[in-house]
Amino acid sequence: MRDDAALVLLSGGQDSATCLAWALARFAHVETLGFDYGQRHRAELSRRDALRAGMAGPALAEDHMLDLGVLGALSDTALTREAEIAFRADGLPTTFVPGRNLIFLGFAAALAMRRGLRHIVLGVCETDYSGYPDCRDDSIKAMQVALNLGMAARFVLHTPLMWRDKAATWQLAEELGGPALVELIRAESLSCYRGVEDAMHPWGRGCGDCPACDLRARGWRAWRGDG
Ligand code: ZN
Repeated sequence: MRDDAALVLLSGGQDSATCLAWALARFAHVETLGFDYGQRHRAELSRRDALRAGMAGPALAEDHMLDLGVLGALSDTALTREAEIAFRADGLPTTFVPGRNLIFLGFAAALAMRRGLRHIVLGVCETDYSGYPDCRDDSIKAMQVALNLGMAARFVLHTPLMWRDKAATWQLAEELGGPALVELIRAESLSCYRGVEDAMHPWGRGCGDCPACDLRARGWRAWRGDG
C-alpha cells in the first residue's frame, strides 16, 4: 500500500471539493470516487469533472464512479424519492439515507485496497450535520477499526472538516488555494438537495431554500459578510 496515496470521496459538493484540495496538498497521488445511488440531487455528480479540472496537477490521478442504485432501492428518504424535505419525529432530516456513509466507506475501502491507497478522505462534519449519526467522529473512527480488522489493512480515514462549520470550510479553501480555489468551489460545486444547478447566487449554485442551500448561504455570509 502506498503511504503517499489517497482516495477522496468526491460527490461534487462544497465539502468534498474542499477535501480534494486538502488531499492534493498532502499526498503525492490522489484518486477520486463518486457514488451514483439514484439521489435526487445527482446533478451534484456532474460538477465533479469541473472541480477535478480546476484542481488538475501532478498529484491528481484516476477518477472512479460506482453505481450504488441498490441504496436508493433500500431507502425511503427525500433524497431518493419525491418526498418533502423536512425533519422526522426522531429529529433526523428526511434527507438522511440510513447508514449511507458506512456503506460508502465499505466500498471505498475495497477500492482503495485494490488500488493500493492507504489514505481515505471524506467530507463528513459533526458540526453542521449532527443529526446524521454516520457523520459523527465516533462512527468514522469505529469504521476505521472495522475496516482494518475486516480487511487486514492499515487504512487511515481522514475527516478534515469534522469540527469545522461551513464558514470555517470556506476559510480552509482559502488557506489551501487562495481566492482561485474559493471561486472554483463557489462556482462549480453543488450542495443543493434539489440539484438545482442553473441558479447562481453569491454563495454559489442551488435552489436557495432547501436545508443544504440555507446552510451553505449562511456559511458564506458568516465568512464573507455578504451574499
Ligand atoms: Zn437547494
